[in-house]
Amino acid sequence: MARGLLVRGESGGIRLKVATLGSGSRGNSVYVECGDTRFLVDAGFSGSQIARRLELLNVEPESIEAVVVTHEHRDHTAGIGVAARRWGWPLYLTRATEQACAPLLRGSEEIRHYEGEQPFQLGSVQIRPSSTCHDAADPVAVVILDPATGLKVGVATDLGRATTPVRNALAGCHFLVLESNHDEIMLRESGYPWSVKQRIGGTSGHLSNRLAADLAEDLLHPALGGFLLAHLSDECNEPRAAMDMANRRLRRKGYRGVVDVAAQDTPSRLYDVAALSDTARNGGPQLQLFG
Ligand SMILES: [Zn+2]
Ligand SMILES: [Zn+2]
Repeated sequence: MARGLLVRGESGGIRLKVATLGSGSRGNSVYVECGDTRFLVDAGFSGSQIARRLELLNVEPESIEAVVVTHEHRDHTAGIGVAARRWGWPLYLTRATEQACAPLLRGSEEIRHYEGEQPFQLGSVQIRPSSTCHDAADPVAVVILDPATGLKVGVATDLGRATTPVRNALAGCHFLVLESNHDEIMLRESGYPWSVKQRIGGTSGHLSNRLAADLAEDLLHPALGGFLLAHLSDECNEPRAAMDMANRRLRRKGYRGVVDVAAQDTPSRLYDVAALSDTARNGGPQLQLFG
């Protein structure tokens, strides 16, 4: 039965794939492809960096259909204006996020508005935005649904806390790009001013490794193929600390899928969501623990 998840698109490739071009406070962008539909969630790098990183994934910038912008912070939007003008990429933004991005836009970009909780179609996929708790004008997490296979990818970074609507939106995803921003002790002992520590660790800031693991554990189901931990702080986290926390919490629940950390300076591998989900589902007797 699980073999049925390996649905092939018109191009002959397995349909839904995802990679980060890079993730962290110096830039975030997630590449998604589903058959012939290719797009980015956020574009927080310079135009030349976006081109270089796409090239590493063997993706031509001209083949990208659009950018879905989650919120206006520069680590998510630095390249949206230049990329939209250079390659003609339409930008999907809420009206409030567009206003907050005004300094990056010159008026020649193609803007397509979406509403905070309204699903919309982008090529062959459906995008489901969900409002998040974060100190931006109208921030969202997004779930990408491939209607042909039922496979879903969630992209949820910049979460002050995971609200019930966000948890509900992410439930049932087969792959998650999930924020694991800081180690709580490293943040407490860091040299940041008190106000910055409050902002990062507060309910409108970023998820700690511990809170990310709480959320990841809540979202477990037998067909969840992978977590790509993202938006790690340079100052207050270590990839090993984020991985260890998530692995410790997830493996004891019988999770058999992938746990990786997204790097800041290089793209991740291109994850094949159907194959990962299939492997997790067939991962062995421990999956019985999910009930
Ligand atoms: Zn960010
Ligand atoms: Zn942000």
